[in-house]
Amino acid sequence: MGGLILRNVEVAGRAGLDVRIDGGRIAEIGERLPGPGADFDGRGGALIPGLIDHHIHLLATAAQARSVRLDDVRNAGELQAVVSRALAARPPGGWLRATGYHERMAGDLDRDVLDRLAPRHRLRVQHQTGSLWVLNSLALDELTAEGAPAEAERDPAGRLTGRIWRGDAWLRERLAAEPPELAPLGRSLKSYGITGLTDTSATTDAQAAALLAEARRSGALPQRLMLMSAGPLGAPPDGAFEVGPVKVLLDDARLPELDDFVARIEGARGQGRAVAVHCVTAGELAMTLAAFELAGARPGDRVEHGGVIPAEAIPALKRLGLTVVTQSAFVFERGDRYLADVEPAEQGDLYRCASLLAAGVPVAGSSDAPYASSDPWLGMRAAIARRTRSGQPIGLGERVAPRRAVALYLGDQRAPGGPVRRVEAGAAADLCLLRAPLAEALAAPDAELVRATLIGGEVAFARD
Ligand SMILES: [Zn+2]
Repeated sequence: MGGLILRNVEVAGRAGLDVRIDGGRIAEIGERLPGPGADFDGRGGALIPGLIDHHIHLLATAAQARSVRLDDVRNAGELQAVVSRALAARPPGGWLRATGYHERMAGDLDRDVLDRLAPRHRLRVQHQTGSLWVLNSLALDELTAEGAPAEAERDPAGRLTGRIWRGDAWLRERLAAEPPELAPLGRSLKSYGITGLTDTSATTDAQAAALLAEARRSGALPQRLMLMSAGPLGAPPDGAFEVGPVKVLLDDARLPELDDFVARIEGARGQGRAVAVHCVTAGELAMTLAAFELAGARPGDRVEHGGVIPAEAIPALKRLGLTVVTQSAFVFERGDRYLADVEPAEQGDLYRCASLLAAGVPVAGSSDAPYASSDPWLGMRAAIARRTRSGQPIGLGERVAPRRAVALYLGDQRAPGGPVRRVEAGAAADLCLLRAPLAEALAAPDAELVRATLIGGEVAFARD
């Protein structure tokens, strides 16, 4: 018997157990297991399945590290100050990537506004929703030297405005010389106890998939990967990632024809794939439900975000068997803005959780990083408390018990929201060891509670 023995851990409420791991799986659980294997002292902490972030954008989150965040900017003066400070650290002509902009801060942006902010650097600013990039003239001239993409907006005279909708794949191709570094992200995610990641970017193409597969092979991203994409995607023979559902991205401003949408679902079926639809607004959800009614739903089909779910839509979600992959952290991180912008009558529809579970709709947890924090423990706290950053409540009826909040992250990667994976003999040794017994950890869920993370039986992360 070789492998690794985790000594003195709590498993499913039973304290003082040893867990022997061999060949990437849990081989045996019992008291004082014999064995010449290497020991790891669990000090009585709970051993739970590794957490899974069921909705994240890995390349965008990695790129965030080299970017400036505009999330807290309140007016034009602050925008200028934040951008100027970042530019001062870069040589003229250099690039600056800024994210988290919202027109509420200093109005709509276009190339002319950005030229005044950054006359000598290349600047690109992403809207908080992730759907829009705005480039200044230096950036635009460089990237469109061989032509502008169809997504690039033009004014009535035909001049490019610098605004590019859904242009991530085009941008990545133009900026391929500088792929974002994934190792720092992989490290921070494993420090949260995360052992599996589902990248839900519609823009994932062969090039992006190759970057992520390489990061998995090199260990830069040690977590198991499942990738979504809008188009066809081939699975690598070495299993560096699994191919997940087809991602359908809707924009409330220009919803597709229902026939088109149904055809996209049927196209996914032709590839043997489920479908995951981005639904932030009630309009997007209504159209999604109509499309699934027509095309038929199958296990694995998902509603991403469920930002606004009117009560009337819940029976249809249940009937169709759709899983809602939510991000409770938005209640905390953006809740104060929701309270200002969303009609009081609709505030109870925001990022529902408890009411969906009560109706029998499967719900899974996720981050949507970089648009919210990648820390799942923050998401759990938000699911439990339903408070905004300033402490205001949103939809208190949607609160879930701490144990349920953790469970949102413990479903299978292929069946988020389904049965919670268990720490039992035969299961993959993708595990999260906490510093404390589970009851104590649940009293104050926090990433600091993670003492070690095992992926495929290897200790990927440990701290004292
Ligand atoms: Zn997303």
